[in-house]
Parts: sequence; C-alpha cells; structure tokens
Amino acid sequence: MSVIIDESCITCDACLQNCPVEAIVDDSNNPTGANRYYVQPEKCVECVGIYDDPQCASICPSIGCITWDMPFSKEFDNHFSNEGLYKLASTKEGTIKSPAFKERKYREDIPLKMRGVKKEVQVEPIEKV
Ligand code: SF4
Ligand code: SF4
Repeated sequence: MSVIIDESCITCDACLQNCPVEAIVDDSNNPTGANRYYVQPEKCVECVGIYDDPQCASICPSIGCITWDMPFSKEFDNHFSNEGLYKLASTKEGTIKSPAFKERKYREDIPLKMRGVKKEVQVEPIEKV
C-alpha cells in the first residue's frame, strides 16, 4: 500500500474507477471479508509518477476514509502480514506477494510519522468540473 480504506467507506465506487493501476477492489471482492472497498497493497504505488496526489483519496466523498499506510517496502514486511487488515495475493507457485517478494513505489516525501496512524491523505475532495 500505502493507503488504506477504513470503515467509513460508503461503497460509492469512485476510487475504484479512478485508480490508475487497478489496485482497488469493491466490497464484494474484499479478500479480508470486510464490508468496504479494499486497496491491494501489493499493487498500490501511491500514484507515484502518474498523478501529483493519490487519486483515490482525491475523489473519495467520505472525508477521512482513506489514510496513509506504511510504505510497501521490505522493512515493513511484518506490518503487511497482519491478516486482519490485509490479504496479499500469491503467485501461481504459492509465494505470497509481500514486500519482501516485491516492493512498490511510495511517496518518499511523506514521513513515516504521517503513516499508519490514520493520517488523512486528502482533507477535502477535489471538485470535478
Ligand atoms: S493511491 Fe493511487 S495507486 Fe494507490 S490505490 Fe489510490 S489511486 Fe490506486
Ligand atoms: S471513494 Fe471512498 S467511499 Fe467511495 S468506495 Fe472508495 S473509499 Fe469507499
């Protein structure tokens, strides 16, 4: 990841439609079983190199629903092994796609103290014209 969707998700579908790397699945496909949309951390790149801000949070109408998570990097491999929050995909051979298997890009300008503590990615949704 490094953004996470919490229980205030109203399942509106906006984020799924706007993720450039198809990292988001809807509530019916959430592998953790929670009744909300889910960001697949092993796919999310925080929109690095594509947009200036994470698009999912920019468009989400539920303020505070999408918050920063830890970088999907090897030093946080244990963090993403929490099966209560994450269900990482596996390769055909059965290897879990953890950060140790493959790291993902993340926004290096977001300090660790802003991550993993429900710090909002976007305070106000961007008005679409
Ligand atoms: S931050 Fe970007 S890549 Fe990650 S889930 Fe949101 S829209 Fe997709
Ligand atoms: S845009 Fe926000 S409220 Fe809508 S599905 Fe995504 S996380 Fe849930």
